Amino acid sequence: MIVLTILLLQNNKLNAQNMESNLTTPQLKIVTIAANTAIGELDNLKTELNAGLTVNQIKEILVQMYAYAGFPRSLQGINTFISVLNDRKAKGIIDLEGKEASPLTDTRDKYTRGREVLEKLTLTNQKNITGANAFAPAIDIYLKEHLFADIFERDVLTYFERELATISALSAMHGVAPMLQSHKNIGRNVGITDAQLEQVQTIINTISNTLFSKGERNNPDYFTGEVYLKPLVSQDESDGYYSAGSVTFMSGARTNWHTHPSVQTLIVTEGEGWYQERGKEAVKLQKGIVIPIPVGVEHWHGASKDSKLVHIAITNFKNNSAVTWLRPVTDEEYDNAK
Ligand code: MN
Repeated sequence: MIVLTILLLQNNKLNAQNMESNLTTPQLKIVTIAANTAIGELDNLKTELNAGLTVNQIKEILVQMYAYAGFPRSLQGINTFISVLNDRKAKGIIDLEGKEASPLTDTRDKYTRGREVLEKLTLTNQKNITGANAFAPAIDIYLKEHLFADIFERDVLTYFERELATISALSAMHGVAPMLQSHKNIGRNVGITDAQLEQVQTIINTISNTLFSKGERNNPDYFTGEVYLKPLVSQDESDGYYSAGSVTFMSGARTNWHTHPSVQTLIVTEGEGWYQERGKEAVKLQKGIVIPIPVGVEHWHGASKDSKLVHIAITNFKNNSAVTWLRPVTDEEYDNAK
């Protein structure tokens, strides 16, 4: 797998235009398509590929992703798009193909062209090769000839749109913080505002790389806010003894107060939240925390105010019942958890 990233320090040139304007609907699609492709969240990607951009624009984002997340992610994204388009065709939906890339007229060598594109993006002279590019000159050539010439010269997407896709992908990936920082600076140079960068981050916080997919929305009668369940082991599969599932609480979301007729175990896999038993202090939840919940004890669990929470719940059955739901956790009770 070839992963091309850029490791360049450049001036932080703030573009003050449109400081207040939110990303448009098609731009938001670029964010979610790029991020979900980069981390292989194909179920989520499927729902993002339904409309808002032309077929060629989406293809272009999925192709660009290979330079940041590798061929396997890019190809999986493209395969997902093929199946979405087939489903839509079967339903009689006609998707706009959109503009193809214009033929190239610049006959200079690719390396020079790529370097010039990079100079336009970074507003910095790129003649000096340092760091990773100097140490492994092959990567310097791939970056300039291929990423910034071959890919960036295709005018199906603007520089603004391409940087938006890159920033979204890197924000969703782990271990690429310096490259994300570089691309945020490039993003500002091509007109992405700080407010829009914040908007991207907010969206990425709801995507991220979870162990399991989010699943389906849980019955809202027993929860406050948005809660999703991805079943892992059904009651049938465990001969009636227990069920296991991954539960995702979006920030502020929580269960009602409830009890279990047998034991329940929570294993936190992502995010931050709270577990509270009636009459006791709330316990802070974060990745790796395991909570064994005793039989019959009234309690609730949920996300913190500014982070989502994902936990696996292993819930035992007694006389075919796994939970007794009580009233919602009030805002006052929730706010007291700290
Ligand atoms: Mn419980």
